Amino acid sequence: MTDTAKQFDTVVVGTGNAALSAAVAASENGASVLMVEKGPEHKRGGNSFFTDGAIRFAYRDLDGIKRIVDGLSEDDDIEMPEYGTDDFHADLMKVTQGKSKPELADHLVSKSYETIEWMKDQGVKFIMNENQFFEKDGKKTFWGGLPVKTDNKGIGLVEAMFKKAQENGVEIWYESPAVKLEKTDGKISTIHVDRKHEGETVVKTDSVILACGGFEASKKKRMEHLGDEWKDAVVRGSEYNTGDGIEMALEAGAVRAGQYDGCHAHTTDYNAPRFGDYGKPGDIYKKSSYPLGLIVNTEGKRFVDEGADFRNYTYAKYGKETLKQPGHKAFQLYDSQVRPMLRVEYDLEEATVFKADTPEELAVKMGVDKESFLQTVTEYNRAVQEGDYNPSVKDGKSTRGLSPEKTNWALTFDQAPYYAYPVTCGITFTFGAVKVNSKAEVLDDKEEPVKGLYAAGEMVGELFYHNYPGGSGLMSGSVFGRTAGMSAAELIKGKTLNK
Ligand SMILES: Cc1cc2nc3c(=O)[nH]c(=O)nc-3n(C[C@H](O)[C@H](O)[C@H](O)COP(=O)(O)OP(=O)(O)OC[C@H]3O[C@@H](n4cnc5c(N)ncnc54)[C@H](O)[C@@H]3O)c2cc1C
Repeated sequence: MTDTAKQFDTVVVGTGNAALSAAVAASENGASVLMVEKGPEHKRGGNSFFTDGAIRFAYRDLDGIKRIVDGLSEDDDIEMPEYGTDDFHADLMKVTQGKSKPELADHLVSKSYETIEWMKDQGVKFIMNENQFFEKDGKKTFWGGLPVKTDNKGIGLVEAMFKKAQENGVEIWYESPAVKLEKTDGKISTIHVDRKHEGETVVKTDSVILACGGFEASKKKRMEHLGDEWKDAVVRGSEYNTGDGIEMALEAGAVRAGQYDGCHAHTTDYNAPRFGDYGKPGDIYKKSSYPLGLIVNTEGKRFVDEGADFRNYTYAKYGKETLKQPGHKAFQLYDSQVRPMLRVEYDLEEATVFKADTPEELAVKMGVDKESFLQTVTEYNRAVQEGDYNPSVKDGKSTRGLSPEKTNWALTFDQAPYYAYPVTCGITFTFGAVKVNSKAEVLDDKEEPVKGLYAAGEMVGELFYHNYPGGSGLMSGSVFGRTAGMSAAELIKGKTLNK
């Protein structure tokens, strides 16, 4: 063991969005900061690196967006629904079935806009999200509360924040997993780091900010907490998020919190790599245009209401539904009426697709039970009701008499050519983590802070249950990461003042 007795005001564990927000906030408030990352430099950035960069915040109206997205002019023909803190809060509560802890939900929502402004000040560039509008009457009509993303997806986000962290003098150690925390007189005083995997280095510090993700990349922990079927889930992002931070926090006196048997998952190309591919980042394997089409399993049967809501509110749980199907496999079906409206991922060369001129031929190519598949299609087409089709709003154009129904955007499946995209379940991140308050302080079983210990991002328990509104993962990392960094810097100031 090498005891360098190196001293930093705060040590941030991880290099994803939450960690970078924490490191930048702590350093800009005067703290000396060390970041430690389990992976090598070329695999830095965690799940945040793999994201589409879609980020949800309470922008209020188009003017609120114009202050964030450079270059939007009066001439841009945009129809933008209003989206304030009440709307964000209502969306969060809707998809979490009212379970999101009020203190944390309020903090996320109320700090979202000022945090976006802060990110912009740090050098993060924002652009309009091309996946979140449909052209209607010559106007870009946005829907779903997610009109903005970071320029160059998650890569652009983390690179901008790394640049700022380095400008602020933050030191970063790669291939250096944090392994253990120690307390002195009830306060965090030391973190053990396996520096370059060459043996433990002991770092003295006044605070530790755990921003090292959930346990989605651990097959063992997935099976233990989520269930045996999760063994075979594709891991959509970082291979390093194996729950180390949760374990370290629990050993230091934290309590578990949140939905341990819940996670965010997404329907993903059946042939996607088993972990996020650093050579092909940018969330290219997801398949989420299903509200416009149909989904069947390998028995040719439907199993969810594809049109229950906009994809932002259903994709996280439909990944899980796919995992429950035989062979963990399903097919998304589109005919030529809707094919041009699919998201860009469907056009990439990485997309697996079967194309046919008839449903019969499609069934053969898909390798599903032909009779059952054709019966599903026939019954579906018969059940489609008249109504005005409009993909920008929940149009109520539905089926009648099916189980499950399709409750919006139900067009008949009858225009050749036909397309089938095989999908499986990709796990994104886990919901169960540790208890924290709105200062990002980690709490013990008496709801008292574990002094000097903070958590952010996927390590915050009790925020997401069952599902999350798309774009809230990055926002949560930024809000709680920044809060954690500011709280850790406050601790140092308090210490200096008390000297
Ligand atoms: C493919 C994909 C697309 C997504 N798209 C979006 C999107 O568009 N919008 C959105 O809001 N969310 C999206 N998400 C979810 C989003 O990625 C997460 O909610 C968010 O990035 C979490 O940030 P984080 O900083 O908490 O964790 P991460 O970014 O995962 O960072 C965790 C870090 O901790 C490191 N680490 C782990 N253990 C240790 C250890 N012992 N010591 C040191 N370091 C350690 C990891 O290597 C990693 O760098 C997506 C996720 C994926 C996988």
